[in-house]
Amino acid sequence: MSLHQQITADVGAAAATPDPIKPWDYLRLRRGAARLTIAQAARPFWKNPAHQDDVETILLGFEQPDAIMDQWVAETINRAFPFDPLIYRQLAEDPAHLHPRLCRTCGWDEWTETNDLEGASNSWAEEGERCKRCEQLERRAAGTWQAMLPLDRAA
Ligand SMILES: [Zn+2]
Repeated sequence: MSLHQQITADVGAAAATPDPIKPWDYLRLRRGAARLTIAQAARPFWKNPAHQDDVETILLGFEQPDAIMDQWVAETINRAFPFDPLIYRQLAEDPAHLHPRLCRTCGWDEWTETNDLEGASNSWAEEGERCKRCEQLERRAAGTWQAMLPLDRAA
């Protein structure tokens, strides 16, 4: 391989973008971020226990590849757990280069206000396509992260 080919290959690898997040992935990530099972997420949408299985099956179906909800359904489902129906629509209809940047662990987008584990406004982690909150959760689970002490206890 010539130097030119090597450089071209390196640039190509560096510019490679991860697979775009699909609408069904986004739904699954946001439900996971809310720490809800399918049964918990489906619960607001049935009153008669005879409908429970059907509602759970439908909700689970929206997380399967190639499943796309109508906009009104997305606006209904997001009462169970927070996600942005407009982002969902973008992921379903727009080319990947127009998709918003999303955390690949929880589906967070930078226009959604939430806190990291230290109480600061959530932001992007320095590495990887994920948010700071997810990085902290992973490091905490691995035992390699300690939250900063509150100021009154740090002295
Ligand atoms: Zn995240």
